[in-house]
Amino acid sequence: MGNLLEVNDLTIKFRTAKATSTAVRNVSFSLEAGETLCIVGESGSGKSITSLSLMGLLPENGEVSNGSIRLNGEELVGKTEEELRKIRGNEISMIFQEPMTALNPVFTVGYQIQEPLRIHKRMSKQEATVKSVELLKQVGIPNPKEKIHQYPHELSGGMRQRVMIAMALACEPSLLIADEPTTALDVTIQAQILDIMDDLKEEFGMGVVFVTHDMGVVAEIADRVMVMYAGDVIEVNDVQTLFEDPKHPYTKGLLGAVPNVDDETQEMKVIPGSMPSMEDDIPGCRFHPRCPMAMDICKEKKPALIDVGKENAAVRCWLQEVDTNADTTIAASGG
Ligand code: SF4
Ligand code: MG
Repeated sequence: MGNLLEVNDLTIKFRTAKATSTAVRNVSFSLEAGETLCIVGESGSGKSITSLSLMGLLPENGEVSNGSIRLNGEELVGKTEEELRKIRGNEISMIFQEPMTALNPVFTVGYQIQEPLRIHKRMSKQEATVKSVELLKQVGIPNPKEKIHQYPHELSGGMRQRVMIAMALACEPSLLIADEPTTALDVTIQAQILDIMDDLKEEFGMGVVFVTHDMGVVAEIADRVMVMYAGDVIEVNDVQTLFEDPKHPYTKGLLGAVPNVDDETQEMKVIPGSMPSMEDDIPGCRFHPRCPMAMDICKEKKPALIDVGKENAAVRCWLQEVDTNADTTIAASGG
């Protein structure tokens, strides 16, 4: 079976008053049905822009300048807004950090869940009402029959986030894109919502692209992880290997920045320095100004993203190239 989502060599540029800058460079990844890929990185890494491009929702001054995004084999790059609208909310859904931006304040919660069902699934009003109550129940909202008559401002932040998930799931999309959906919530509600998403993923067999800067959340929900830095993919691996044996110095830094929940005295380690902006032209490895391991070559030549032994595992770092070459040399001389 083919992949649910195939992104190949995706490059995204932004026009600013002065120039055109590259926000995301040559990103490739794939996703199977029922799989969760976490895209992680600090703010400015290109993770949100990558996820927005999947839905054709880049800001006005941004564009996919190269590459391909295929959903179930169908090319999405180059589709018109009208064509994309049919796909959004039906085959692809998205949930955001702030539910108030996605919910319409003048319509009841029930209406907003029922609308996509009536448009995309051609349900009758009655069928859509039954389904919306069922969905609210699935995302853990008490008294769903009453809640459908309420307006977004009458609900708490956690309840609104659940409503947004119910809306996103209404048409049983094959792909769910979530951009920091739990960041604004307190820890208990965050954990509940991640659990609900995980259950629903199993139930519907959706593929999930989950954007976050929080490695604790990644540990909780990811099958695979793609780490981005300043517009580049710098490491990809399955979640267990990435946590046990991170190879890129930036990934190591991010993991060092995960606070240990059992030890309240432990300070959160922050990687010194800050992410360059997309206008900054940094030669060589874009992480080198912050990298504790930087070598001379790192300042001059950009390392390639190279495979590390198995499918869907790769690292972009000169240290890794040195390692791999050493292995090859040993293998060659030994044989
Ligand atoms: Fe650090 Fe060099 Fe690796 Fe970049 S290529 S992460 S600067 S060691
Ligand atoms: Mg973001």
